[in-house]
Amino acid sequence: MIAAQSDRLPWHHADWDRLIVCYRLARVPHAIAVAGSAGLGKSAFACRFARALLCLSPLPDGDGCGRCRGCALEAAGSHPDHYIVQPEKDAGGPIKIDQIRQLIDFLMRSSQYGGFRVALVDPADRMTVSAANSLLKTLEEPPAAAVLLLVASALSQLPATLRSRCRRVQLKPPAAGLARDWLATHYPDAIDLLALAGGMPLRAIAYAQAGVGERYTALVADLVAIAHNRQSPVLAAQSWTGIGLRAWIELLQLALAGLARVAVTDCDADRIPSGAQLHMLSQAIDCSHLHDYIEQVTAIRRAADQPLNEQLAIEDLLIGWRTAVRGARAQTMG
Ligand SMILES: [Zn+2]
Repeated sequence: MIAAQSDRLPWHHADWDRLIVCYRLARVPHAIAVAGSAGLGKSAFACRFARALLCLSPLPDGDGCGRCRGCALEAAGSHPDHYIVQPEKDAGGPIKIDQIRQLIDFLMRSSQYGGFRVALVDPADRMTVSAANSLLKTLEEPPAAAVLLLVASALSQLPATLRSRCRRVQLKPPAAGLARDWLATHYPDAIDLLALAGGMPLRAIAYAQAGVGERYTALVADLVAIAHNRQSPVLAAQSWTGIGLRAWIELLQLALAGLARVAVTDCDADRIPSGAQLHMLSQAIDCSHLHDYIEQVTAIRRAADQPLNEQLAIEDLLIGWRTAVRGARAQTMG
């Protein structure tokens, strides 16, 4: 996930204020799970709270002052009472038990600066089962003045016993108007991608930065051309070589989600990118064939972590798309 433009995101206010009240009452939870969909700024929220806890003289709204020794060390990434655990190799990799054992050692030590020790696990849903279980004992008997922040899009993947020992902060998507206003100030190019991003402002920015909008439009055009026999799946697949199978399937899933939405409610067509084309496509395929095809795509997405031939897999999926449309047409004619 991209860094937030500002970590004071307006849709965090209510959750932020509740945590700051705990802080003022000296009732900061020992473990906090920051949950919510990707693109809401969960990491930004957790980091902001970590800064607040490490600051020696927080501002009236609870934020770190940005000037004290605690804030300076935190900003430099060298605060001895701050510990961050992330996947070792790549963002999609696991967080292993050895990493969590080191984290537990950190939590058990005494504070170097006499304040809180703050540990962040991000993303916590990348912990292996044994890593997550190894945290349990620590949370059952939490060390004093230590705060563990777990950031997770898929909180349900953590063991229930672990979840039940955390205070949950569930970030919710902002209202559409608020999201658009915020993007207008921070990243106007991403406004048109907000619907595609499911209303998640930071995801819309990530899409804009990665050129997802243009690719999405091109893919919908391919799906239309294939459905109307104006393009062969094999030739269409060639034009997508090099994008990466996972990225391409995510794009296809976005297009299919849009198609499913338009198929169910006509009125949404003008609210999502390429809505008119999707509306046209929704006339070419019925819900049952669309559903089966979406299942097929989901299954291949699951296998996309295995080494598959990218070109062949894209070809297969586009041929599958043509088959689904033809199947729907044959059924209508029959
Ligand atoms: Zn400070």
